[in-house]
Amino acid sequence: MGLVSKKICLIGDFNVGKTSLIRRFIDREFSDRYLSTVGVKISRKKVEVTSKDRTVQLLIWDLEGSTKYKRVAPSYLQGASGALVVADITRKESMEHLPQHIQTFTNINPQGKAIVALNKSDLTNSELEEKYISYIQTFPEVARAIASYTSSAKTGVNVDEMFLQLATHILDGK
Ligand code: GDP
Ligand code: MG
Repeated sequence: MGLVSKKICLIGDFNVGKTSLIRRFIDREFSDRYLSTVGVKISRKKVEVTSKDRTVQLLIWDLEGSTKYKRVAPSYLQGASGALVVADITRKESMEHLPQHIQTFTNINPQGKAIVALNKSDLTNSELEEKYISYIQTFPEVARAIASYTSSAKTGVNVDEMFLQLATHILDGK
């Protein structure tokens, strides 16, 4: 079987760490400087899904943010098999926008798989992590997602796990 490529998108409010999560996953690097994304940047990475004995090439679309919540252009989301929907655990507003981001994605890709990341967990403690993970489950859209994680692009915690989990579920789909 040839190598399958699957498109996934990083979506979420501006400044939550979307670009940083991709850099951590692909380049094993983190920068404190603001990493501006202009338009769309597509990165590739092969992921071995050992549980299925298969390799999938992820085409990871980093979509430009705005200063506030803003829906990304639907055309960017078209054809995506999955999404990593990101919020900043130190900014409640960004968590409140998770349902809208998920809905925008699933409206265009009804079979698409979504994983939710509460990023910047290095800036909080485990008690608050649990509190906010429970809080976001009160949103039906979030509760319907495959999983919710706390993550840190800075320390790398859960970054590989989230992408692997997404790849695994994408291979499960048709
Ligand atoms: P984007 O707009 O969602 O792509 O966000 P960026 O990746 O550009 O990150 C915005 C800012 O947050 C930058 O200054 C990053 O260095 C910082 N940042 C991103 N992820 C983390 C993280 O996990 N922990 C901490 N402490 N800072 C982060
Ligand atoms: Mg960015």
